[in-house]
Amino acid sequence: MAKQHEIETLIDERLDDEIGTIYKTAPYRVTLLYPSPYRIGMSSLGFQSLYRALNASDSIVCERAFLPDDTDRFRAARKPLFTYESKTYISEVDIIGVSVSYELEVLGLIEALELAGIPARATERSKRSWPLILIGGPITFANPLPIAPFADIMILGEADELIHIVCAMWFEAKDRASFYEKAATLPGVYIPHIHGEKLVPIAQSRDDLLPAYSVITTPHTELSNMHLVENARGCHRGCTFCVMRRTTNGGMRTFSPERVLSTIPDHAKRVGLVGAATMDHPKIKEIVRSIVESGREIGLSSLRADRLDDEFVGLLAQGGVRTLTVASDGASERMRKIAKKHIKEKHLKHAAELVARHGLKQLKLYMVFGYPEETEDDIHEMVEFVGELSSICKVALGMSPLVAKKRTPLDGEPFEDKKSLEKKIRIVHQGLGKSVDIRSTSVRWAWVEYQISQGGWDMADVAEAVYADGGGFAAWKRAIKKYKKTVVNITRPIDDRIRPGALMKDFDVSDLIG
Ligand code: SF4
Repeated sequence: MAKQHEIETLIDERLDDEIGTIYKTAPYRVTLLYPSPYRIGMSSLGFQSLYRALNASDSIVCERAFLPDDTDRFRAARKPLFTYESKTYISEVDIIGVSVSYELEVLGLIEALELAGIPARATERSKRSWPLILIGGPITFANPLPIAPFADIMILGEADELIHIVCAMWFEAKDRASFYEKAATLPGVYIPHIHGEKLVPIAQSRDDLLPAYSVITTPHTELSNMHLVENARGCHRGCTFCVMRRTTNGGMRTFSPERVLSTIPDHAKRVGLVGAATMDHPKIKEIVRSIVESGREIGLSSLRADRLDDEFVGLLAQGGVRTLTVASDGASERMRKIAKKHIKEKHLKHAAELVARHGLKQLKLYMVFGYPEETEDDIHEMVEFVGELSSICKVALGMSPLVAKKRTPLDGEPFEDKKSLEKKIRIVHQGLGKSVDIRSTSVRWAWVEYQISQGGWDMADVAEAVYADGGGFAAWKRAIKKYKKTVVNITRPIDDRIRPGALMKDFDVSDLIG
């Protein structure tokens, strides 16, 4: 049986290895909970940025909690889930802010609440003494309905500004009913038991609260010891499969090189520029050059093949980049055109030539397949073209089945037949052999993700049944068959109601908080 002190020792070792951890006391306690383990949560810019911003308030101490790495071991230690910094039980804080990034984290959310001794369903938390469960995060840009029954309140879209307002309202509230009544009037705030399955518009934060940037560096994440900062928010393009397209977030906002660079602490040896479209920043070269010339390593969350040139890749190489990762997001020229990705073969070929010229290790190419109009001819075209690329430089290929998302033009499109998708993967393996390192997302789990992303509140019933049934794929299949209703009823109304750009700056909250 795991001993409690072993778990605490592991956490203390992680804390010792962090730079930037905030320890403080204040009248109100907020826990930011990540429903996946530490290694993943600490790579989230949004999670880190809110931790920093909430702790900037004199009245709030904000600490972190994560889904334990080994939940069985944690459960065996018989102690409720607690925060990293002060080991406070999260069931005893004022607010638990949960950041959910993608659909399958719903099980992590249910498990984390169970480990904390908190009822998962909002309907079971009617007493004022339960912490307020506030859910936000990237998933709210797509479809928050499947996790809504677990939330007392949700922030849809950008939380940088709204989270402070919601916290202040909750601290002042005498009872839940009056709090919900006030909070429901805020643009971007969705309260499931008040709004039902009718979503409110997505929120945008004030520009002066941006950019988001991290405060803690740690060696124990995917992005080891890296300072994260966004140089742009949103995207001005319109790829049909992408939730971050311009219709979701009202376009792209860029931050000046001075603002971006001013967030970098002296101790940071590595800097990651994060954003949906980092390379579309008009001064991206200037930002990258400043970071690299300061002797730091650089990383970018997204590279566009059509914007790479010799100088830029030279800077990346100087900044320690060994792999150029680009997305083609369509198997053929025809599919990329339909997906409005606007990346052509000539751009990808040029990227491969730059990898070779600058002595980089490889070109990593991401591809979405399984679009409604796609045929095996498109896959054959891709096999031929990737084969051509691999004669220029080493190529790794990542393949993901299309998962149609809400708030995109592909919303409501069916998930391609699993056998057909698996056949396409076989065609790629047979055609490219061992010359290319091919990694494909599991078709079965992409299907589960599709079911959740197209679902409504009924998916909360599904998720609870799956959790009770062990969480495996067969459990998802059984529960979806038993509990999931048709998606048709909720598909169109969501699109009609959602409009980008509910701006907090146009909203006076002075009469809502003291
Ligand atoms: S795939 Fe990239 S370029 Fe296209 S809309 Fe999404 S973020 Fe923008």
